[in-house]
Formats: sequence, structure tokens, C-alpha cells
Amino acid sequence: MSRAPRKPSRIALAISASLLLSALHCAPSAVPRRARPEPAASRRAVLISFDGVAGVRLEKLLVDPGKLPAGAFRRLAARGFHAVRSIPPTPSLTAVSHITHVTGALPEVTGIVSNLMRDFSRPFPRTISGFDAPIRAETLWQAARRQGKRVGVMLYPGADGTAPERTADWMMTWPGDPIAPGRLRLVAAAAWLPVEASEAPRSFSPARRTILPFAGTSHSVQLVALDSTDDGRVDYDRLLILPEAGARREARVGDWFPVEVPGEEGRTGAWCKVLSLASDLSRAEIYVGPLSRSTGVPNEWVRALDEQVGFWPGAPDEKSFGASSGHPEVFLEQTERLVDFLTRADLLALSRRDWDLLLIYQPEVDETSHEFLLIDPRQPRFTPERSARFLRLVEETYALADRSLSAIEKALRPEDSLFVTSDHGMTAIWGEISINEILREAGLVELDAEKNVSPSSPLAGVPASGITHVYVNPAGAPGALDRAERVLRGFRIDGESPFDRIVRREDAEELGLRAPESGDLIVLAKPGFLFTKKIEEGAPVGERRDYGGHGYRNVYPEIDATFFAAGPGIPPAKADSIGSWEIAARVARALGIDPPRNAAR
Ligand SMILES: [Zn+2]
Repeated sequence: MSRAPRKPSRIALAISASLLLSALHCAPSAVPRRARPEPAASRRAVLISFDGVAGVRLEKLLVDPGKLPAGAFRRLAARGFHAVRSIPPTPSLTAVSHITHVTGALPEVTGIVSNLMRDFSRPFPRTISGFDAPIRAETLWQAARRQGKRVGVMLYPGADGTAPERTADWMMTWPGDPIAPGRLRLVAAAAWLPVEASEAPRSFSPARRTILPFAGTSHSVQLVALDSTDDGRVDYDRLLILPEAGARREARVGDWFPVEVPGEEGRTGAWCKVLSLASDLSRAEIYVGPLSRSTGVPNEWVRALDEQVGFWPGAPDEKSFGASSGHPEVFLEQTERLVDFLTRADLLALSRRDWDLLLIYQPEVDETSHEFLLIDPRQPRFTPERSARFLRLVEETYALADRSLSAIEKALRPEDSLFVTSDHGMTAIWGEISINEILREAGLVELDAEKNVSPSSPLAGVPASGITHVYVNPAGAPGALDRAERVLRGFRIDGESPFDRIVRREDAEELGLRAPESGDLIVLAKPGFLFTKKIEEGAPVGERRDYGGHGYRNVYPEIDATFFAAGPGIPPAKADSIGSWEIAARVARALGIDPPRNAAR
């Protein structure tokens, strides 16, 4: 099988120039905007990333007429350019890959070398998320604004509004952890209390109430159990929902209901569900969803989203409804709600007049694939039936993405350009490895009282999915890295090394990872294994709870992303693959601007 070169030499040549440039432009948003003649008709471009869409899997669905009924991916492939696979950088991780495709540069130029990295601004062995770490290369939103274009952002990784260079003209940002996490609550008989006669709603058995708190907050929701049948029996069948804010409503078993709470910082709520309700109230299962609100800038934009789209519904809950739960179909219901919310939010963004470039991100396929990609008999609890049931959830999520894309496509003008990509695909995983435990057993990692790597440890492994960066403690004794490399090279599971590559930082140019942010030693897993943060004494290897993974070296086709481009001047064509580092320049061309400063052309 012939594959496109994994690392174009032109990127290698651009590195020294880019380092110079990054030294020269510390605050790109402050660079004076160059006066440019307005291009013929105002050109607009939309770039959408559907996290986790695997190009190879999408292609299989595209040729099956029973799949992807909205037909948006098919229409784009027919009228524009379609590459079956967009090759991500190494490692194929969300932060790394998104920053590569919006800068046109590899991790060694962007500085985003993993989803979790050593934070050199703080003492050893503190870390920083790859989503929050400084980006050394210019991004599409910076390049567009520098050239007089207006940019809107809907949740794009890297554009989080935390600094001028990470801010667009207006944006909805990823809200992060919910105010209170979702929780499946078992309500026992004793939790239902009598309701005062004066406030009792109509019920043929005495109404009874319970209060469910949102953990860690002063907020709660009151539920009143009602019996709506005049049959002389105690058979409660409905709940009256009394939220702190917003309308009351009733719910029966199987119903979702929104609960809002007063929120000074914007509309705040949770989507909840009645999973079961015993007719005598001896047992009820109520899912209290994650308490959430939208975030972004400016405030008026977030208020418009609140009013016209609703409160942020939260991400699907793998703890309550994941692969090991009894209710995986509820995960899909939550996914559908999130996609519907995001689609309506994206349509509101598209309807604004003040943008030339719009960046849109949706997470649904990644979330479902991580949880349910049970496709390999080596995975725990694999059966053909379970695999078929779970794969259906994955494929239905691809269909949800297709439906969302269809709505977005229809909202565009014929003269607009539309680019669709993803950050990586997904592969089956079955085992997890703790590099820190392997190194601890060899005496090369030391733990503190909380079982975290201690400040005096000779080494620290910083794992993220398929990659671990191993950093040397500058205060440690010499020789630890050599020993670590020997230990890891000798490590075996069932007689085989689980490692794909063990590379010193100075030798990592082939991986595009020869960056000061990288570990002194870079360890990449073979597909099937992920690295865990857990450090359990005597257990360097464990079984995975979830099923899909990524973050490996970029040579495995099932972990490649996808790419579509359509619009004026883009003739219909199909390619086997492109490099994700080519995307920034393609979008810039459609917009009529120079690409980001470090971008591959
Ligand atoms: Zn991702």
C-alpha cells in the first residue's frame, strides 16, 4: 500500500523560518491590519470539524445507500473535492490535530505535541492541557483577522477566548466541565414525603414529593409523584416537575424533561429523564443531567443563544449510559439532543451577517466512538451481538453528523465555500498501560503520598491516549533516561512489545515532534493499547472500560480523518488522502487571503 509522505519536507524547511517569525510576532491580533481590496463579491468560508469521524469508516457508509439518509456528505463529495482520508499529525489527538489543521503546521512548529504536556512555566512535574497550552504558530482565525476578515467561532479547539490570540470576533466556546455532573439517582420509598393538603395537585393516591439536589451546588429540583387513574389502586404513574426557574411540567417513564435554575451568568439547566417509576414508589430511577450553561464572547451573543436555542444540554454521560451501563441507548438520546442543540446554534451563527470565516466544531462522533467501538474480538466482553448493537450507535451518530451538515449546507449561499474535516479516526482498544508504573517498578518514578509523581521523581511520564511524553527532572541524577529507555524496550505483554515507537526528543523529527514541548523520551503505543494516568502498584497493564481510541503514530488508515471542500473554483475531484497540514492553506485560498504564516502551501 502506498501512502502519502507522512511529513512533507517543505514543513521541515519552514521550521527555522517559523521560529524566527514566532519570535517577531508575539501578539498577532495587535499587528496592523493590511489594507486589501475587497475580493469580487465578499467571499465567505465555513470550516467544520466533526471530531472523531474516521475517513475510512465514513467512506464505507457513503457507499451503502441505506446509511446516512440526509445525504450531505454524499452531495459534498459529488460537487466538490473529497479526500477519503485526511492524515493527522502524530500523535492523532484532538488538540494536536485541530491545531495542525488550523495552522497548517506540525506539532514541532505549533508546540501542541499532545493533549497533555509538561507545563514548563510551573515546577516539575506539573502539566498543562494541550487545549490550553500556548500555540506557537499563527492560526486561521489570526491570519484572517490580520487581513481584515471577520471570524466567528463555534466551539473550535484552540479558540477559547482566554487570550487575544485565541479570540475571534465573536465565539461560542467549549463550556468545559458542567456546574454539577449528571447522576443517575435511585430514589427509595422513604425519600417520598407527604405533600401539604393545601398545595397538593390532583392525584388519586396522596401526592408525595422528593427533592433531588444538583451535587455541589445550592440548586435542586422538586418532584411530586401523582396517581392519575381513579381505579382504587395505588399506582403512581406521573411526576410533576417543579424547577427553581422556568415552567412546571409533567413527565412519565421514558420522558426527558428540562430543569432550569436561576443563573446570573446566563440560562442554566439540566436535561433529566425518568428511567423507571415503581407504581408504589418503592423504587424510582431518575437521571439528573449535568447542570450546564453556554459560554462565549461577547455576552450579547451568548444571551442570544440562550434565548433562541436554549441552555447548553451537556455532553452524553458515559458514566451513567456508557458501554458498561444498562442503558446505552440513552447515550444516543443525549447525543441526539446535543447535535440538535449545536445545529440550531450553528444555524443562528450562520444567520449573522458579520463573518467572513466561520469555524464550527461538533464532538458527537468522537464521544460515541470512544464508548462503543466494539469491533475486535480481542476487546473485553466482545460478542457478535454486542458488537452489532454498539456499532449501530456509532453509525447512527455518523448519521446525526450528516443531518447537521445537511442543515448547515442548506443555510449557505451558492458563492460560499464549505470545508468539512475531522481530527482523527478511531480504532479498537483492549488494553491500557501505565508507563509511570513500569518506571516506578524500575525505581525511575517516585510517588508522593497521594500516589502522584513526586517533585523529586527522576522522571515523569505524561500520558494521553496513544502517546506518553517522558520528561527528565532537571534536578535529578543523570542516567535515568538511558535506564528508562532500556526498561521500556524490554517491556513485553504476552511476549510482544506493546510499543510502536520509543524515540528521543532529538530524534523525533521523523514524527514531527522534535519540539521543546516534547518529552525527553517519546513513547507511542501500538493500536489496541492506550496509556493511562492511573498508577496502581503491581498493575502496569489493565483492561479498558471503553472501546475506541486514537493518538498513535499517523500511519494507520483507520485512524485517519476525512476531508471535503466545495465552493467556487473547487472542481469535483476525489483523492485517496491529503495531509491535514494542507487544510489551512486551502481555506485561506477560498477566502482570498494569505494562509497562516507557518502553513504548508
Ligand atoms: Zn478528537
